[in-house]
Amino acid sequence: MICLYCHADIKEEVNLITLFERSRPLCSSCKMSLSRWREGRRCKFCHRLMQADEAECADCLFLSAYYERPGEIMSMLDYHDTVKMLFHRYKFTKDAALAEVLAMFLECRFGEYDFSIPIPVSEVRLAERGYNQTEMVLDAAGVKYHDALFTEKVTRQSELGKMDRLSAKNPFRFKADFNADALEGMKVLVVDDIYTTGITVHQAAETLFSKKPVKIDMLTFSKA
Ligand SMILES: [Zn+2]
Ligand SMILES: [Zn+2]
Repeated sequence: MICLYCHADIKEEVNLITLFERSRPLCSSCKMSLSRWREGRRCKFCHRLMQADEAECADCLFLSAYYERPGEIMSMLDYHDTVKMLFHRYKFTKDAALAEVLAMFLECRFGEYDFSIPIPVSEVRLAERGYNQTEMVLDAAGVKYHDALFTEKVTRQSELGKMDRLSAKNPFRFKADFNADALEGMKVLVVDDIYTTGITVHQAAETLFSKKPVKIDMLTFSKA
């Protein structure tokens, strides 16, 4: 068995557990280093590592001035060097097998939501990369989701400053073949790969909130 992350040979005894895990091999040292969280005081809401002199999370404070607050923000992994490398390989070197690795860490009670809605990527980006990196992890984990949104946004978010992104029009719209009115009174989970400033998921939530769901929670694979 070869570890999907470090490609080392995994020498583990085959027992009932390893037999089940066979389709998703990750050696125990990769599993440990990926799931590690950096020490430090974190924002209880978005899980960001806070500065020593920060009384309230500046990111959450900033977002709450412009967007409706979601119920809960969940994050599977911290964003230290090992995780960064994982995402880099997954997104930019097209190592699609790494969706399996991310899926291993996907712990969320999806059954509690009526709709799990991944953040879409633009058609340009989809053609370039060949896959939606968020949907592929959900697929690997066997999670059902709704393709409710689309975006035409092409500029990489990381290339824009916070204010540029705020002043730009909300890039998320409902897909024509999605019955958006069905969201009314429902529990919705928005899923994204990396939570950096949080603007992307909050913009997607803003579009979804327009249909009056009873709550929107957010799940991101990693908190930068
Ligand atoms: Zn490994
Ligand atoms: Zn925060």
